[in-house]
Amino acid sequence: MDAGHPRTDRQAAHAALVDGNAVAGILADLLAGDATALVATCGECGAEGVLAEASVEMDAQAALVRCRHCTHTLFTVIRTDALPILRVGALTELRPRGHSRR
Ligand SMILES: [Zn+2]
Repeated sequence: MDAGHPRTDRQAAHAALVDGNAVAGILADLLAGDATALVATCGECGAEGVLAEASVEMDAQAALVRCRHCTHTLFTVIRTDALPILRVGALTELRPRGHSRR
């Protein structure tokens, strides 16, 4: 009977320890579509909303994506001479629309 075991214990018992290469395909799947349709969750206030509705402060160096509800910075996209850098802030979850929280 496993009723006394938290879900995380069961997951850990079946998890494989691998390196970061293992998540490349999963991340590509998440970001393959329209990123503005992804639903972001703010770790500061718990608000959820599609990225298209977030508040963004943009200048030549970076885009600060803020929670529309509490204004904390969810994440920052920093422009570079090459590919941009993503700096995560209050963002706790990013998921496709239609998928509920687990
Ligand atoms: Zn917030």
